[in-house]
Amino acid sequence: PSKDFNEETKVWSGQSKKPMYHDDIAIGQILHMRLVTQPKNVLQINDTEGITYTNEEILSFSRKIALSLQEMGLTQQDFVGIMASNTSLAMPVCFGCLFIGTPIHPCDVTFTKEATVYAWRKTKPKVIFCDGSAYKVCKEVSEELKLNCDIFTINDHIEGVKKVHDLFIDRGMKEIFFQPLEVPSGDQTAVILCSSGSTGLSKAVTMSHKNLTRTVGIFMDTDQDVVLTFSSLYWGSGLLGVLNAGITGATHLVISKPFDAESAVELISKYKVTKTMLPPRNIALILNASNLKPDSLKSLKAVNCGGAKLPVEIRQRFKKFVSPTCILFFGYGCTEGGMIAANYMEMKLESTGTVAPNMQVKIIDENGNALGEGEDGEICVKSDVKWNGYFGDQEATDEVYDVESGWYKTGDLGHFDDEGYLYIVDRIKEIMKSKGYHISPSEIEELILELPEVADACVVGIPDVLTVNLPAVLIIKALDKDISEEAIAKYVADKKPHYKHLTGGVYFVDSFPRTASGKILRRKAREVAEKLFAER
Ligand code: AMP
Repeated sequence: PSKDFNEETKVWSGQSKKPMYHDDIAIGQILHMRLVTQPKNVLQINDTEGITYTNEEILSFSRKIALSLQEMGLTQQDFVGIMASNTSLAMPVCFGCLFIGTPIHPCDVTFTKEATVYAWRKTKPKVIFCDGSAYKVCKEVSEELKLNCDIFTINDHIEGVKKVHDLFIDRGMKEIFFQPLEVPSGDQTAVILCSSGSTGLSKAVTMSHKNLTRTVGIFMDTDQDVVLTFSSLYWGSGLLGVLNAGITGATHLVISKPFDAESAVELISKYKVTKTMLPPRNIALILNASNLKPDSLKSLKAVNCGGAKLPVEIRQRFKKFVSPTCILFFGYGCTEGGMIAANYMEMKLESTGTVAPNMQVKIIDENGNALGEGEDGEICVKSDVKWNGYFGDQEATDEVYDVESGWYKTGDLGHFDDEGYLYIVDRIKEIMKSKGYHISPSEIEELILELPEVADACVVGIPDVLTVNLPAVLIIKALDKDISEEAIAKYVADKKPHYKHLTGGVYFVDSFPRTASGKILRRKAREVAEKLFAER
């Protein structure tokens, strides 16, 4: 780890590392090159579906999808929407798009129509690939946004609906001599990921080819590794999982159902998994799995963890189950800021480590002045890869990103110690995380305020080891009106995806803590809710 500090600018810099790939090469070109060289290598195992694919099988599917999309007229300026679980063919759909440089824009399979309309309203996908269970939502979204697009199911068969297998037509020489397309520059957008940034609803975060080739380069996997991935393409970790396997030759082991700890333990022992990426919440769940035995996790050589705080106690308990040589990488970062900003292996467990290679981090006060060691302020990160901002949303981009200087304001509160270790203290921004998803309190508040019985609402997160935050709401009832806690909880549950449900509770209060200027003091409101939650 680098401890390079500039006294004048108060900026900590990570090591300067030569990228593994040429910066202007398309991620699709690297993938293609790797898949061609080791045709018989087992690339993907889907345990739920009982399907195994080799490099050459995935290559053939991906080429067929790429050729079909080209025939349908898709260019590098169009987008492909994906709404799929970890189904076997999600990987070639992703690779097929990347082969022709058409960016994908995945949404979560649990997204409601409202959330998906919002996510895709700017990118307007020309083609959508989805699970059968998400078809209805995709169809409604396509109608509402007037996308006039083709929708293909990836796994399930629905009468009268096209499926990805329809694209698997033999194209003879055209397929054999297929070559992935170049991109004009590595800065071109390759993928769009959903993120909430520091305020508001989901935004379309652009990720460039360079960004992806740099990030996959840091996973030092080999073709001997078996890497278990739980997340679908909607998640940065899921996307990196498929790209990493394609590029390094590691076997990508997936299950097509939501994470559950018992399956995780079973799969790790059954397939002798060597590496995996787990958020802290899932590490904690694995430690409570009923089938966890002292040697269940001994095959693991490295575990990548990040996205939220990892309590030291959980980390220490987990270490007892993996082999002594297993490395637990822990990182801090955000999608907008180039994924990984700081990371560590075994040092200073309360911190999130030192600044990652080719990154810079500084702490600023409310006026934008850089702060020194030990002083809490907003964490700002800068990657040496240019960010293209939120797609189609210059205003939101300008709020958090300075194109000239390249600094991104994370909305996280933290500080450095005198050795360059970064500590995350809290979030300044309104957005909270729950089960890895971003939640905008104002979005849920606006919904609750539609109820005539509610005069005011304030949504906060109750800290929880497993989910990070349980969304809770403080309610001021309208004068002379009555409504039950259950009715409010149900109103939200009926309209929002599962992670936005009010699992932290609904509490009636007479007033909210406010500043002199009338702004809600969210931290104080959270304390009130935490107290009411504990008393329940
Ligand atoms: P995402 O863009 O979904 O990766 O979320 C990024 C946000 O997750 C950051 O801005 C932080 O608020 C939070 N986060 C990521 N890594 C950590 C960590 N190691 N400790 C605490 N919070 C984290």
